Amino acid sequence: MNKIKAEIEGVSTIAIAGHIRPDGDCVGSCLGLSQYLIENFPQLTEVTVYLEEVPGSYQFLKGADKIRNSYEDKKEYDLFIALDSGDKERLGKAQCYFDTAKKTVCIDHHISNKGYAKVNYIVPDASSTAEVIFDMIEQEKITKEVAEALYMGIVHDTGVFQYSCTSPKTMRVAAVLMEKGIDFNRIIDETFNYKTYVQKQILGRALLESIMLLDGKCIVSAIRQKEFEFYNVKPSDLDGIVSQLRTTKGVEVAIFLYESNVQEYRVSMRSNGNVDVNEVACYFGGGGHVRAAGCTMQGSVYDVLNNLTGQIERQLHQKQEKDE
Ligand code: 5GP
Ligand code: MN
Repeated sequence: MNKIKAEIEGVSTIAIAGHIRPDGDCVGSCLGLSQYLIENFPQLTEVTVYLEEVPGSYQFLKGADKIRNSYEDKKEYDLFIALDSGDKERLGKAQCYFDTAKKTVCIDHHISNKGYAKVNYIVPDASSTAEVIFDMIEQEKITKEVAEALYMGIVHDTGVFQYSCTSPKTMRVAAVLMEKGIDFNRIIDETFNYKTYVQKQILGRALLESIMLLDGKCIVSAIRQKEFEFYNVKPSDLDGIVSQLRTTKGVEVAIFLYESNVQEYRVSMRSNGNVDVNEVACYFGGGGHVRAAGCTMQGSVYDVLNNLTGQIERQLHQKQEKDE
């Protein structure tokens, strides 16, 4: 199918943006789609990707060096494409171009996405936004460079084809991308598996300091500002910690918090299936997927955990009553 071609008819300038604190799917989707558009539609005079700072390990992707992170130009794009962002606010500063664009398209897979653009392609069953994009472009026209970016997106959102969002379809898409001659093993190791020494240290600390709540059904860990300074880490160094917490035997929900401001915490949650963490995150103004979601909450660690576990416990009780 070739939905992208239909969307760019009559368009000359395009801005593409993803969510704040971009992850692998966000970066892979933005660079994969922009590269595809540049290669196949010479009538486009501008295709610009706007993203916050991108982790160094993603820099090998074609176009990564051209990503823009400044928003001073008062531009009005013909088309703004929002990728992997469940709500408009998560586009961060790129919202200024969303607001002034002649047309807006959103491509995403978050179940919490209510469709904030003019045209919305939201597929909650898809493993990743990269998988949704794959379905909107022509397979024969996918080059190695586009394949690398889309494959990276899928790898990250499926935890290398391990999470429940991985479907037979995901594997078929990955197979097509592999056939484009990509160095898949290198992409997996260098962007997903390898961690720097400080990243390993902070992971170790998070595991060591974790606590169990709700009779062992909930595991929790938190990193405070002073630890960021001590280990000299930034928020992107914390990716993957919550997934490590989730695979603790007996746990239904893993919660990882980091202090993003005074009395403010970023919350990451992962579920093993019995608790809908998207529902919990939405209740506190965030969103995501049934098994992976996040939000930002105010207060002390104690306040935040009290509020979160209250909602989780309610869901566990409801499930228990239903099962009896
Ligand atoms: P993570 O825990 O990896 O930061 O996020 C898990 C999932 O939830 C991701 O798909 C992410 O895009 C989504 N998510 C995280 N935080 C928020 C938030 O504050 N709002 C919304 N709408 N989605 C979020
Ligand atoms: Mn995603």
